Order: sequence, then structure tokens, then C-alpha cells
Amino acid sequence: MNLNIIRKDFPILHQNVNGNPLIYLDNGATTHKPNIVVQALQDFYFKTNSNVHRGVHHLSQIATDQEEEARRKVRDFIHAKSTNEILFTKGTTDSLNLIAHSLGKFCLKENDEIILSEMEHHSNLVPWQIIAKETKAKIKTWKVQKEGNLNIEDLKKLINPNTKIISITWVSNSFGTINPIKEIIQIAKENNIFIVVDAAQSIQHKAIDVQELNIDFLAFSGHKIYGPTGIGVLYGKEELLNQLPPYQGGGSMIKEVFMDHATYNESPFRFEAGTPHIGGIIGLGYALDYVNEIGMKNIAAHESELIEYAESQLSELEDITIYAKDLKKAGAISFNFKNTHPFDVGELLNMQGVAVRTGHHCCQPLMRAFNIPGTIRASFGLYNTKAEVDQFIIALKKSLKMLS
Ligand code: PMP
Repeated sequence: MNLNIIRKDFPILHQNVNGNPLIYLDNGATTHKPNIVVQALQDFYFKTNSNVHRGVHHLSQIATDQEEEARRKVRDFIHAKSTNEILFTKGTTDSLNLIAHSLGKFCLKENDEIILSEMEHHSNLVPWQIIAKETKAKIKTWKVQKEGNLNIEDLKKLINPNTKIISITWVSNSFGTINPIKEIIQIAKENNIFIVVDAAQSIQHKAIDVQELNIDFLAFSGHKIYGPTGIGVLYGKEELLNQLPPYQGGGSMIKEVFMDHATYNESPFRFEAGTPHIGGIIGLGYALDYVNEIGMKNIAAHESELIEYAESQLSELEDITIYAKDLKKAGAISFNFKNTHPFDVGELLNMQGVAVRTGHHCCQPLMRAFNIPGTIRASFGLYNTKAEVDQFIIALKKSLKMLS
């Protein structure tokens, strides 16, 4: 990977913040966009903007072709069997709400159980709480160990004949912990349990094959993998999707409409009511092209090296707690200092041009389990460098000195 060339593709990185060169370590929140993605959006709006799957006119046909080309790119990226398994949504949150609603209505009844881990993002908790309330199902909590990971034996103990769904993040957005997704899926399948994977923090860091893993449903956001905001994906096995009730009603999702009822389209259109974010879909396709060109394996190796390098330097600092320490992590490293509020450290880093995330990272149950208000999280993208890690550590030492 030639980082000098790669960094030129991201104009936003080349600016000063508070008089210092920007060091962007908040990629877990969102990633920046390479030129080709922004160019694709501009080309769409300047040259081919039109609604899709509706018009017979020239521009509408081009826009439809481009949208469906992007669906093929997503299919290939995650190794799905068919484009009918790729639903475009607004993002991971939207995908998880969709599947919680539709799958919940399909399979949950009173006293059925949904297993969720304590490290889930609120997006993978609240939608399930809502559908559980509606169907009188129960949420079962898979507790996090003090080391910051999940114990597979604990999962086995939670499963019983009432367990219908396990919804689990592949990678923790708070600690960077990588969950043993293969084993979790295997256990789910052996027990006839539906498996939903939140891939918001894995899609950009780890190569994926949904067929090999035997995933039922998988959600991710475009903006976390160098694509536009407002666009996301829900993958689902076609035979399952076509059994699920729709999430929203409107244009595109129907076959026939009468005054008092309607018949529904097949997947993916059954779940894509209304005009989609066409530009975003096309932009996401280009983002995946970009990542493919660099290679997921190269990206993963580079980011692992950055995290290990950061962890070794952070470990030297006094009074630090690193979460999921010494565990293999993806994308992020999270830590705290004794008697220091994470927010204060974040503010002082910002004064020196370093962007990190502080707070509960939308994981309040996880923070509660660790009895902390939040953490300082440095999260990495394909364009970050070891020199940036060095600068980050220097800025961190300065911040701690100011606070002492
Ligand atoms: N799940 C995880 C693990 C996440 O990190 C995030 C984003 N921080 C989400 C879900 C929600 O993603 P979005 O805000 O793009 O819908």
C-alpha cells in the first residue's frame, strides 16, 4: 500500500485544525471519501439524475442501470448469491430497524427470546426492544467479560427452545473487540435460530463471505466504508426475505394496489419503498471499487499494524486502562486514564489537531458494565500512518501533562 498516493485521494485530510495538521482518528464514526466517490456523486447529479425503475426515457434507464450495477458490486463484495439479497437502506440503523420489525413480526410470539450482547450499539438494541414489546418477546443479555470480549460458553447457556433470534455485532465499535462470528453462527444454526450480524464496524476492516459464514441477515453503512452518508445495506438470504412482511409501504414495493389492500413485490423491491438514495447507491458502488483496488487483505493488515503499534505505545503511559487489551482488535483502540474524564482528553487532543471520539459510543450498557462514563477511542482507516500514531501519542502526553 502506497500511503502517499492513497492520501492524495482524500482531499479532506490535507488541512490544519487549530494550527496543526489534522490527524483523523475517528474513522469508527465515519470515514472520509476518496475523489472517485465524490466524482461519482457529481457525475450522477450533473449528467444522469433521474428516477429509477419508472421511466422509459434515456436518463431514467441510465440511472436504473447504474443503481443495479452498484447492487451487483455489493453482491460481489460480500459474496452474496444474488442481487435479490441486497436491499438498499439509509444505513446500519435503518437496516437493523427493518430486520427487527420484519423478522420480529414473522417469527416472534409471547415468551420467545432474542439474544443480544452487552456490547451492542444502541442501533442493535433499541429496535429489538421495540419489537419485543410489540410481540411480548423477551431480550436475553449475553454479558461481556471483564477482558472486553464475549465467552461462547455463556451463549450456549442462554439458548433454549424459545430462542428465536441472535443479533450480534461482528466488531465492537467501542473496544474494537472482534467477536467469534463463525462459532456464533454455527451455534445459532445448530439450534435453528435466526442470526443477524451488525457489520457496521467490520465491513471496512475484514473481508466477508456471507455464504461461507451462512449468515441469515447482515447490516452495514456506506459512510463507514468510504462511501456517502445516507446509504446502507441489508443483506438477507433470498428465501427468507421473500417470506418476511414488508417494513414500509409505498411505491416500488407493490405488485398490485387496490383501495383496501395490496400485493407485494419480491425482494429486494419489497423492502425498498419510495425513491431510493440513487446517488448514494452509485457512490457506494464506487467506494467498494476503491477498497477492492487496494485489497481488503492489505487494508486489514495495515490497520492491524497501526493498532498494534498504537497499543504498544499507549501501554507505556502511566495510569492507563486499555480495553480489550492484548486481544486482537479491528479498527479501534479504546482507553481511559485514572482520575481523568475522557472528554477533557478529547478536547485537548482536538486543540492539537487530533480527532478522536470520546463518550459512550452509543453503547451505554457496555459502559455501565465497566462502570465508566465513556472512553477515549482512536479508530483507524486505510489512510492513517504510523507517523500519525506518533503525533497522536505526543499530543496525548501533552494533554495529560496539562491535566495533571
Ligand atoms: N452498529 C455499530 C456497531 C456502529 O458502530 C454504528 C455506527 N456507529 C451503528 C450500528 C449505526 O450506524 P449508522 O449510524 O451508520 O446507522
